Amino acid sequence: MNKIYVVGIGPGEYEQMTIKAANILKSCDVIVGYTVYVDLVKEHFSDKEFLTTPMRKETQRCELAFEEARKGKTVAMICSGDAGVYGMAGLMLEIGVNYPEIPVEVIPGVTAATGGAAVLGAPLIHDFALISLSDLLTPWEKIEKRLLAASEADFVVCLYNPSSKKRHDYLKRACDLMLRYKRPETVCGTVRSIGREGQEMEVLTLAELAEKEVDMFTTVFIGNSQTKNIDGKMVTPRGYRYE
Ligand code: SAH
Repeated sequence: MNKIYVVGIGPGEYEQMTIKAANILKSCDVIVGYTVYVDLVKEHFSDKEFLTTPMRKETQRCELAFEEARKGKTVAMICSGDAGVYGMAGLMLEIGVNYPEIPVEVIPGVTAATGGAAVLGAPLIHDFALISLSDLLTPWEKIEKRLLAASEADFVVCLYNPSSKKRHDYLKRACDLMLRYKRPETVCGTVRSIGREGQEMEVLTLAELAEKEVDMFTTVFIGNSQTKNIDGKMVTPRGYRYE
C-alpha cells in the first residue's frame, strides 16, 4: 500500500522503541533515514530495503520517501527520538502537499529529553522549556531571547544541539545568559549517548556547566530554583508548595 509512516525510533537502544514503531518497521517495505539512524535499526529489520541520505539533505530524503511510496510501497521514514521533536514529521507533511494521494502518519517515540531525564533521575517533573542551540534554522537572537525568557520564568531548561564543531562555545554563551536569572549553584545535568553504547551522565552546577565541553550527542538539563542533587540524581520537586 502506498503510505508513509514517519517513525520516532527512540534515543537508541531497541528496547526504547515503542511496540507500534517496531511493528511498523517490521511490516513496511522500505526504511528511509539518515545513515546513523539506519545503522541503529538495521540488525533488527535486516530483511528490509534501506535507503539513506546524509545529514542536511532532509528535503531530498523526504522526496525519496514519497517517490518510493508512489511505486506502491509502504515506507517508514525514521527519526531518532520523537519524529515530531526537531524531527522529520513537519517537513514530511509540508512536502506531502505535493503528493496528495499518499497518506502520511506520524508515530511518536521517546525523545532525548525524557530518555535523558530518566537517566539523570527526575529533572523535568515540573514545567520545562525545550530549546535547541542550533542556529542553522533559528536566528541566534531568537534563541537568546528564549533562553532569557525561560530562565526569568524559572523553567527547567532542556537543551538540544548544545554544541557542534562550528558552535563549540554556544553552551557557555547559553549558560552565561541563564546566569542572569539562575543561581550559579543551580543543579544541572548532562547525558551523552542516551540508550546507546557508552552512555554517560553527570550532575553538576550551572557554574560548572558553563565551563564544560559537550558534543552534539549530548542533551543538557538546567534545573529550576527548586531542583536538587539527591545522591547524584537530578531531581526537581513536583511543585513549589514547600518552598
Ligand atoms: N528527534 C530527536 C531530536 C533531534 S535534535 C529526539 O526527539 O530526541 C538532535 C539533538 O537531540 C542532539 O544534538 C542531542 O542534543 C539530542 N539527542 C538526540 N538523541 C540523543 C541521544 N541518544 N543521546 C543524547 N542526546 C540526544
